[in-house]
Amino acid sequence: MSIKFPDYKGKYKIVSLALDETVKEDLQEKELPLVYAKSGYIRLFPENIVLSDSPSHFAEISTCNDYDVFEIWENGTMHRKYNDKSNDNYFYITGKCNSNCLMCPSPDAARKNAPDANIFDLIDLARHIPVDTPHLTITGGEPFMVGEKIFPFISFLKEKFAHTEFLFLTNGRIFAVEKYWRKFKECAPSNSIVAIPVHGSYPEIHDQITRADNSFRQTVQGVKALLKSGIRVELRLVVSQLNINDFTNIARFILRELKGIDYVSIIGMEMTGNARVNQNQVWIPYRKAFSSIKAAVYMLVENGMDVKLYNFPLCTVERSFWTLCERSISPNKVRFAEVCNSCKHREDCGGVFAGTMQLEIDELEAIL
Ligand code: SF4
Repeated sequence: MSIKFPDYKGKYKIVSLALDETVKEDLQEKELPLVYAKSGYIRLFPENIVLSDSPSHFAEISTCNDYDVFEIWENGTMHRKYNDKSNDNYFYITGKCNSNCLMCPSPDAARKNAPDANIFDLIDLARHIPVDTPHLTITGGEPFMVGEKIFPFISFLKEKFAHTEFLFLTNGRIFAVEKYWRKFKECAPSNSIVAIPVHGSYPEIHDQITRADNSFRQTVQGVKALLKSGIRVELRLVVSQLNINDFTNIARFILRELKGIDYVSIIGMEMTGNARVNQNQVWIPYRKAFSSIKAAVYMLVENGMDVKLYNFPLCTVERSFWTLCERSISPNKVRFAEVCNSCKHREDCGGVFAGTMQLEIDELEAIL
């Protein structure tokens, strides 16, 4: 959600939204800058200036929620950074990454050139987010590419949010460095889980996919260090043409070498960015992907491991595995095909990524 206020003359700032007088008073008591939308006017506090009396602006902001958080840029553009009614809120630390995975949904340009977020702005954003928010994700790129300056931000999260679940999305390589896993252990909120991708059961295949020498060794060392220090770890296995024949070996490797993992997520690809550029090397339709990973899923489940399937439309997965399927695609990216209109399980299905629909559309079959 984004609105442009052409007459805004102020600096970049982060504000909370109040649509209701009691919420406005609550935010003022907490000394948080806010936007108050009431009776056709959108006002900025504490300055008490009118940002807009345009009916279209007012109608648009009225679709948002009390306690949503926005940033306002110097050019008057206001973007939503936190949606109080969503479970899909995140802090984007940087687009940069020290790996360059062939099937990454981000483009190469973002990996090389994206700017880092300002840590003080991230802390300011966190300051505005209500303390009872259930879930927040920390993501990138590779969030730990910003180095040790991420830790004051993580410490702030620990101090403020005692009951929120935090999901850290990282390639895990940094945790091969003792200083980093020790610092993370010290700063991470108690309800944190670190999600780390493993692309193969042996170094050559993993490093071929990440296009980063030694990344397998570093990732595995990082996972082991986190597990040893009592931090919860989720492993993410992205299914592509490049590792599809290694999946049972990956399952064996996890059960043998990485004991103590919280759960394993097996992920269907999103075909944007690098994945789209390398489509001929990586793409595998979801139905074929599922039938090739089935034995690995069985092996993990039979050995007591929790498994989740992300991004697989229900019609591409055998019915007996549906309980493992998560509705994982964010609302702004999810799409359904025409055939879905007659599907009995549309409400339970997680749909297809917008960027993958064109490749997958002929695979989908309404469940009748
Ligand atoms: S037909 Fe559409 S709604 Fe039904 S399972 Fe397939 S993708 Fe989901």
